[in-house]
Amino acid sequence: MKRRITLHFPREAVHQPIAYRLAVEFDIAAKILRAQIAPNQSGTMVVELSGDIDDLAAAEHWLESQGLGINRASGQIRVDAERCVDCGICTSVCPSGALSSSAPSWQLQFDAQRCLVCEQCIPTCPFEAIALVLEPSP
Ligand code: SF4
Ligand code: SF4
Repeated sequence: MKRRITLHFPREAVHQPIAYRLAVEFDIAAKILRAQIAPNQSGTMVVELSGDIDDLAAAEHWLESQGLGINRASGQIRVDAERCVDCGICTSVCPSGALSSSAPSWQLQFDAQRCLVCEQCIPTCPFEAIALVLEPSP
């Protein structure tokens, strides 16, 4: 699964080879989407982590133990009710239960509080009703 997070680096952690250690020690691929880090200063980085859900949890725990702050969502999932036809396909890939539907209406329900922003639902929707809305750059 994928998870998009914002990392806040204290000055003393700026030079750590974060992506390398995530790959070697946790089998996590880290794709840097945005970075704002000056040498010897604190900074922020928006990164997409890919890996097993348990490895992701361990990696995030390790990052926090290194003094990095984590904001777990740099964007939000939006469901366009005008496009959605309540087919329910997206609910089958949602690992957190944020997307659901049930009898009798089978109308799609989206619980943003449960959403991990893993984006797995986006490509499954045949009507392009699901999108990631990015928050402004930190
Ligand atoms: S709603 Fe979409 S982005 Fe959020 S957890 Fe479910 S599959 Fe992932
Ligand atoms: S796959 Fe798309 S159309 Fe189907 S329930 Fe999900 S958001 Fe709605």
